Amino acid sequence: MAKQTDRSRPSGPGADPRRRVPRADSVLADPRLADAVRRLGREPVRAVVRRTLEAVRGGELPPEDAADAAVAALPATAAGLRPVINATGIVVHTNLGRAPLSEAAREAVTAAAGCTDVEFDLATGRRGSRGRTALDALARAVPGAEAVHLTNNNAAALVLAATALAHGREIVVSRGELVEIGDGFRLPDLLCSTGARLREVGTTNRTHLSDYAGAIGPDTGFVLKIHPSNFAVTGFVSSVPVRELAGLGVPVVHDTGSGLLTPDPLLPGEPDAATSLADGADLVTASADKLLGGPQAGLLLGREDLVTRLRRHPLARALRVDKLTLAALEATLRGPLPPVRRALAARPAGLMARAESLAGRLAEHGVRAAAVSSRARVGGGGAPAAVLPSAAVALGPEAAGALRSGRPAVVGRLHDGRLLLDLRTVPEEDDGPLFDAVLAAAGATAGKTARGSTCT
Ligand SMILES: *Cc1c(COP(=O)(O)O)cnc(C)c1O
Repeated sequence: MAKQTDRSRPSGPGADPRRRVPRADSVLADPRLADAVRRLGREPVRAVVRRTLEAVRGGELPPEDAADAAVAALPATAAGLRPVINATGIVVHTNLGRAPLSEAAREAVTAAAGCTDVEFDLATGRRGSRGRTALDALARAVPGAEAVHLTNNNAAALVLAATALAHGREIVVSRGELVEIGDGFRLPDLLCSTGARLREVGTTNRTHLSDYAGAIGPDTGFVLKIHPSNFAVTGFVSSVPVRELAGLGVPVVHDTGSGLLTPDPLLPGEPDAATSLADGADLVTASADKLLGGPQAGLLLGREDLVTRLRRHPLARALRVDKLTLAALEATLRGPLPPVRRALAARPAGLMARAESLAGRLAEHGVRAAAVSSRARVGGGGAPAAVLPSAAVALGPEAAGALRSGRPAVVGRLHDGRLLLDLRTVPEEDDGPLFDAVLAAAGATAGKTARGSTCT
């Protein structure tokens, strides 16, 4: 909803705006709104016009501004999801949709959105193997994997592995790795929901190879190693690496969580699929929308016979990915560095230069802003202990609400009584829209017109 609180308009006798509320149809006749109806559908545009007219009725908006205000308040798409600039400094922010897709992935999604040869061989005119090119791209990225498979997300990959390999049997897992992944969902509950039994070994802080060895028996389905991707336990701790678990004589499934396919020198403590398989893991699972920077999907990589059992299991059909995911994943794997990787690699000096430039331009427009150094994080997507030196534009805390309701919405981080807009998580090409959004928000909080925003 665009605000219009300009009190300088004439409001003399007979000018009570509530008497002159335009009819919805006459507002909808505005060519810009008629065009929006063709683009977005009738319902979303009508909803905007309805809210605009309520504002007129309430005296917050002069009737003659109704059409302009409705146009300014039009959603970007027919879906209710609103675009957000992630200025939180949390690189993989689950509540903001985790990894933003690269341009290449967005284009691939759009191209695949119509009919496409996802399961059709155009050369022969027969049924083709579903998502073959995406699976090939994943296999090429991790040559040590004999076979690969995809699911909806990592939770689905674990459910599939537990169902196909350990139904009615035991999964041996360390007490130090029984992770709650968020929104109240816990991996132990997820695993038990498949009809597998958990055989917990060790303690919260320390688990030894002998703990695993003592628990393994005829009922063992597999040993599961889970990466603590959203917490860190320090002090008197020890856990057993995959390399040693691999000698136990039962399959080792490694939930690496964050989806690195190969080691990343920026995140030395973070496990990756290639290393885990080389160390002897039989199956690796991971999310595609964390550090890999792709769409939501679950990655399964490992031994041919195990992957085949998973792929052939009836549940695999219920957990399979759609064509949009296949397109986005393949473009992420083959295309240029996705935003998550660029955010991780950005140099603090470059971020500070951007923060200084933004703060300087904002100051020229009368907005109190300062460039400050900041500490960004990887987020729930991995490397919980890693601090990424960063730079931010600091604003007064009162800007937070107006920025969240802007278009695009901007979400920052409150720290020490200030709102920080951390630039590590803002792609450089979004500095312009971010600047516009801050100006618009400053106008809105100052009680001036908020319609000056040049960003759409
Ligand atoms: C994120 C995470 C999950 C859940 O993955 P989704 O893709 O969100 O289903 C499971 N295990 C670990 C270790 C994780 O980090």
